[in-house]
Amino acid sequence: MNSIHLSKRLEQVADYVDTDARLADIGSDHAYLPCYLAEKGQIEYAIAGEVVDGPFQNALKEVRQKGLEEKIDVRLGDGLMVLSTDDKIDTITIAGMGGALIRSILENGQSNQRITGKETLILQPNVFEETVRRYLMANNYTIAAESILEENEKIYEIIKAIPADVPVDYSKKECLFGPFLSKEKSDTFIKKWNQQLQTDLFILGQIEQSKDPDETKMTKLKEEIRLIKEMIT
Ligand code: SAM
Repeated sequence: MNSIHLSKRLEQVADYVDTDARLADIGSDHAYLPCYLAEKGQIEYAIAGEVVDGPFQNALKEVRQKGLEEKIDVRLGDGLMVLSTDDKIDTITIAGMGGALIRSILENGQSNQRITGKETLILQPNVFEETVRRYLMANNYTIAAESILEENEKIYEIIKAIPADVPVDYSKKECLFGPFLSKEKSDTFIKKWNQQLQTDLFILGQIEQSKDPDETKMTKLKEEIRLIKEMIT
């Protein structure tokens, strides 16, 4: 992968970025996504934020090599703390992290007034997509689009969210499976949830065999198994 040929996963994230966006890409090792978008002329400006020095240096190098310093500002810092309201960011991408980390980055940014809550969010959690959807619902966002795709034997979900005009109330099923993905039921979606079903059944079996089974965990797993079976069979 490079900034000319993105991974399929990042290409889908890029596709969701609106024309002329002022973008903050958080966790931007190599800054491939903002470089790709800047080279295509799809964005007005971008901040590539990184918390770790190595990936930060890689992002700096990439932006310099492409001569994109005017368009892309690479900043070292934690999550949305690299932003200020003067940056007038209107779109945030956070890709390739767990759902819980994505949620905490957004919450931190909000409690430190680094974002207005009106930005378009394009999020690609590697795990715990439900946590991300619950954050969106709690913060008055509506899911505008969702994708699911497989790359290098891993399945990824990409979620685009925009501020809602009216309060949003997603059901448990919509939070877990995705309001769009659960309607489309693509082959990749069925494959993902079949795999999850096998994992859940295996874990449940292990817990049931243990000397002191964790009842709370078992109830949660049984409920998820029921929902998955209902969804894919
Ligand atoms: N976004 C790229 C992608 O999707 O290919 C990179 C994903 S990489 C697996 C995750 C990156 O996020 C790492 O470079 C890591 O250092 C960075 N990261 C993790 N937590 C962060 C935080 N709180 N703030 C900024 N960057 C963070």
